[in-house]
Amino acid sequence: MAPAKTTAMKYTPVIGLEVHVELKTMSKMFCRCSADYFGKEPNTHTCPVCLGLPGALPVANAKAIEWCIMIALSLNCEINLLSKFDRKNYFYPDLAKGYQISQYDLPFGKNGSIELKSGKKIRIRRVHMEEDTAKLTHGQLGDQNSELSAKGGSAPSGKSQNNEKVSLIDFNRSGVPLVEIVTEPDFSEAGEVKEYLQKLQQIVRYLDVSNADMEKGDMRLEPNISLQVTRNTPHEGKNVSPVTSHELPSYKVEVKNINSFRFVEKAINFEVKRQEDILEKGQSPVQETRGWSEIKNQTVSQRLKEEANDYRYFPEPDIPPIRHTKEQISTLLSRMPELPDAKYSRFLREFSLNDYDTEILTREKSLADFFEEAVRVGKDHSVTPKQIANTLINKKVDPSSSEPASIVKQIVQSGQVTSIKEEELEKIVTDVLESNQKAVGDYKSGKETAIMFLVGQVMRQFTTKIDASVVKETIKRRLS
Ligand code: ADP
Ligand code: MG
Ligand code: ZN
Repeated sequence: MAPAKTTAMKYTPVIGLEVHVELKTMSKMFCRCSADYFGKEPNTHTCPVCLGLPGALPVANAKAIEWCIMIALSLNCEINLLSKFDRKNYFYPDLAKGYQISQYDLPFGKNGSIELKSGKKIRIRRVHMEEDTAKLTHGQLGDQNSELSAKGGSAPSGKSQNNEKVSLIDFNRSGVPLVEIVTEPDFSEAGEVKEYLQKLQQIVRYLDVSNADMEKGDMRLEPNISLQVTRNTPHEGKNVSPVTSHELPSYKVEVKNINSFRFVEKAINFEVKRQEDILEKGQSPVQETRGWSEIKNQTVSQRLKEEANDYRYFPEPDIPPIRHTKEQISTLLSRMPELPDAKYSRFLREFSLNDYDTEILTREKSLADFFEEAVRVGKDHSVTPKQIANTLINKKVDPSSSEPASIVKQIVQSGQVTSIKEEELEKIVTDVLESNQKAVGDYKSGKETAIMFLVGQVMRQFTTKIDASVVKETIKRRLS
């Protein structure tokens, strides 16, 4: 192989993630309006607080704070026992107050991690609480296909042309509790990001604090992407050794507000290629905010960030700092459900299932609970955990429209159970048939009901429950 003339460059993606998760509390973060806004008539879930009227006083939602801390704990975070809210100032019509109540230097959680299947740990920098903004809808009046017409948007009074461009504001989402989870730039490929996101979604669903429904915007994703350049130095035709630098690239590209795991993957892969092409030309990608365009299937520039945003954070004067004791935090911890990783390990250990079955059974808490209940019921019928797992997985049983006991019954009736007790059953049937010659004779001479007497005699010999239909089939077979 001819040694390369020029030094080959190697580009390693550096990716950090900011995820917003909307909580499913009854009421909003700082007022008593209903937080259940999805699909509701615009501007019907509002009050002076979440409309941002001057002088309205926010009162923090204790449940939302508790849930935010639960999320932080489940991501192995340290909890700041002294925490507070801060004002993040910016001007945009989705935020009438001119600032968002968020957290700055004292978030509820910090320094956590999520472990991927490979064993790689993604460090979580912070988990903080904030409020969602109003929802803007941009469009054209008079355009029959526009979302605005569907929403019954009418032209503002006064002169208006049919194709006038308008933006509508719906404050129903304004003030809905939002938890932001920020990682360190520890991902090096889109696949890792996807695994992390699935795990995060699974955790918040286990905790039952968010529906984490992507389609409804319950989870919004912002990957930050840059490329680390290393040189592959050829050593007289021997193996190349990358010269690694420990410094982060001097720029990053943030892709805002993506609402699907698939689009995050696409956006990351697109950015890696785009930035690689720029670097290959000897140029440097610019620091900027981009968006994902579903139509163009690419990221598009939204705004260049010459200098960092200056939000002029300062402590929210209307909400006192929040203190928790260590005891309060450990009580919270003890009230949390078993989390996916722990459940996965326990299922492997306790039910000796394979990785594949365990993965499927623990994906959703409702299915895992259903499985465990079926195992409990199944014990009395000699139904094994493996048989239950097979049935649940192969028949794609929906835990919300079925009962554990009826699944066990199905398994028993399908005859799968006989194998377990087969020997014992055969032996007892032999004994019973031998010592009940009269009933056997009756049955053979056409008295069908005699078989039920024999079934009863067999069943009495079992200390655990055994399915009568299985016993009956066995006796029939033996007498035929
Ligand atoms: P900002 O102040 O612009 O929000 P931060 O340093 O707070 O930037 O980081 C925001 C997100 O960007 C974090 O998830 C972080 O991991 C990620 N990040 C920081 N530097 C880089 C980089 N060079 N490349 C990719 N992601 C990065
Ligand atoms: Mg950011
Ligand atoms: Zn309100």
